[in-house]
Amino acid sequence: MSKFLDSRYSGLAAYVPGEQPQDKKYIKLNTNESPYPPSEETLAAVNKSQVELLRLYPDPDGRALTKKIAELYGVESENIFLANGSDDILNFAFMAYCANGRKSYFADITYGFYSVFANLHGSDYTEIPLEEDFSSDYKKFCGVDGGVFIANPNAPTGLALGLDAVEEVIKSNPDNVVVIDEAYVDFGGESASSLVKKYDNLLVVQTFSKSRSMAGARLGFAIGSKEIIGDLHKLRYSTNPYNINRLTLAAGEATIDSQSYYDGNCKKIIETREWTISELKKLGFEILPSKANFIFAKNDKIDGEKLYLELKEQGVLVRHFTSQRIKAYNRITIGTPEQMQVLVEKIKDIITEAV
Ligand SMILES: *Cc1c(COP(=O)(O)O)cnc(C)c1O
Repeated sequence: MSKFLDSRYSGLAAYVPGEQPQDKKYIKLNTNESPYPPSEETLAAVNKSQVELLRLYPDPDGRALTKKIAELYGVESENIFLANGSDDILNFAFMAYCANGRKSYFADITYGFYSVFANLHGSDYTEIPLEEDFSSDYKKFCGVDGGVFIANPNAPTGLALGLDAVEEVIKSNPDNVVVIDEAYVDFGGESASSLVKKYDNLLVVQTFSKSRSMAGARLGFAIGSKEIIGDLHKLRYSTNPYNINRLTLAAGEATIDSQSYYDGNCKKIIETREWTISELKKLGFEILPSKANFIFAKNDKIDGEKLYLELKEQGVLVRHFTSQRIKAYNRITIGTPEQMQVLVEKIKDIITEAV
């Protein structure tokens, strides 16, 4: 840290992304990327003529892509906000609604970026403890006095709240913005996007990073009331109006045009998830019922960190968190059936040696 850094930031604990090691080729099951490539249409959209056009700035409003997303979700273009990954949107939401001592509420076990953004923007935040079994008592988020952030399905647990519960939270907080982060909704959750017309305090956040095989392109979007979307545009135009590059916009449009390919991938990932759960249960794992493209698993026969390290040694990366409540667990992204077979075989060997 330099002596020049503003004292506001000197105590900031930055977000720690899952590792992206470059030393050897791993089976990568640690950052919830899709194991499947983008569609043929998406690949074709990022072509020589698009690269030639890189000399020009992109459309700062991404109008063509905005229109396609609006049609897919049955809303107007004014209800859609595009950003450089959904993290960009979460940042703007904290900046707009929870900064400088304003309050925010999120679960104690959830996406680690919420507390980072809360600290960055000086939010007075409260972490609401999940129940013993990691389920969420949605009533604890009802009628609070600040912004609410709920990942649904939640990360890293994979557990999902039903739409009725989500609606109760939105309805009971008419004076506060409720952000529903749906990064994993395409793997079996229920989207709150249909509620946007009914509630002006709702912001639904989604991403192309998980179900749409575009983590490297950085593209997220939000669905909300015209007023909320207007707030976000104001902040975006005050920081970086060209926050989405041309190639990503082109890829995003082709991706929406080939939505059925991505729906097929989600179906395969759900099937592979259920297969993996049943195989790991045979090996004595306890696994939370997941609606995401990952599972959260522990086994009393082996320490969470030990399993993570041994798998890494053998070329398989999973995600281990060190915080007290979840350190017995590993979060394992669902890959292809072949990758998951390798994972199960390796875990079998590791456990046999451990006992
Ligand atoms: C992956 C993830 C994000 C961020 O996704 P990007 O669009 O890649 O920035 C946001 N929220 C949750 C819960 C996630 O798991």
